[in-house]
Amino acid sequence: MIISVASGKGGTGKTTVAVSLALSLDDVQLLDCDVEEPNAHIFLKPVIRNSIKASIPVPVVDKTKCDLCGKCADVCMYNAIAVMPKSRTNAGRVLVFPQLCHGCGACTMFCPQQAIREVERPIGEIQTGKKSGVVFAHGRLDVGEAMSPPLIRQVKRLSDISTTVIIDAPPGTSCPVIAAVKDSDFCLLVTEPTPFGMNDLILAVEAMRKLKIPVGVIINRCDMGNDKVETYCKSQNIPVLMKIPFRKEIAEAYSNGNPLIEPLPQYKEQFKEVFNKIETLAGKDEKKMKAKKAVEYFRGLNGKMRLNCAQSVAAAFMDDGFTSNSDIEGFWDCGFGEAPDGYCGSIYAALSLLRRTGNDGRLKELTEEFIAYTGSLKCKEIRTFRRVSCRQTVAKAVELLERLNS
Ligand code: SF4
Ligand code: SF4
Repeated sequence: MIISVASGKGGTGKTTVAVSLALSLDDVQLLDCDVEEPNAHIFLKPVIRNSIKASIPVPVVDKTKCDLCGKCADVCMYNAIAVMPKSRTNAGRVLVFPQLCHGCGACTMFCPQQAIREVERPIGEIQTGKKSGVVFAHGRLDVGEAMSPPLIRQVKRLSDISTTVIIDAPPGTSCPVIAAVKDSDFCLLVTEPTPFGMNDLILAVEAMRKLKIPVGVIINRCDMGNDKVETYCKSQNIPVLMKIPFRKEIAEAYSNGNPLIEPLPQYKEQFKEVFNKIETLAGKDEKKMKAKKAVEYFRGLNGKMRLNCAQSVAAAFMDDGFTSNSDIEGFWDCGFGEAPDGYCGSIYAALSLLRRTGNDGRLKELTEEFIAYTGSLKCKEIRTFRRVSCRQTVAKAVELLERLNS
């Protein structure tokens, strides 16, 4: 399940809530997507183990091939590429504005002359680490860089949906927030009972409703201000999942860079209760349940027989009748890098199962999305890149197969 923690404005205690929630749960991942000003690491204090440069592909036009048709500018949603037509005094040219480019690749794909190639433009870095069982990652946007959504999306690619993923979103309701909370199963909105808190909460609720993401509210410093936030939540049928009082210990912990469960460990239980309520409010998502089930097979958890990665992908679809015991047997020698041609067993199984449905058009999509997540289709390379673990490949293959086969 993916839970994003957001707030209509900064300074509401969003990050201390996100970190405290993560530290109260088992098998959890915390992704700090506030890439312009990441600060979850200050509260969590993870050991950073890996740091990779983040970049986006921006177009470079080959003048000798370009016929100035203008297709690239037509498909660019961000006005990052413009075509100056030929005139009597001007030879015409294509202008690229790298600072506006989101690296979506549409111009390259639609250029009829294949005149566009892509070069990587650095935008920041992604660091990963761990603390007290919490798997951590954050993005750091380069100083002066304006393009935060692509970096947020790259951080989110690390989501391990077989666990509980907590996303610390940027404050506000603009594009970076939408990029961070999109695809979440639930959004926890942290607010305070003041006129500003109320105004920004309303904006945040409206944004989440447009995204069709269920919401719940945590009121921080609940004993200050007035009761208008609670009245609003009641009128809108929005559950208030927790109220945190204004306490000196909490303020001190915050200013010392400690999450609120440190001075007040009794809040751990309350955060667990909040999580239980979120599970109920978000409802069970079959896709995520399948991925979870596959990972349970892969790890031999909850009484399930331990299977290799390829078998685990197949086993997740047994209840639907889409796969059977013969599939599990058929993939017995496809784990541990032994799948044909060195393929990752997870994607090998997903491709094999999708292929037999006759849905060949989706094979390319499955391949591309898997590569975007893992970096490769080959087991050895995926292990070398160390972007994702084997169990993440299992979860991703199941998620993609489920979606592309529907
Ligand atoms: S789509 Fe290709 S050929 Fe057409 S103007 Fe753009 S770069 Fe040139
Ligand atoms: S990659 Fe996307 S955003 Fe960048 S110029 Fe091409 S179409 Fe525009």
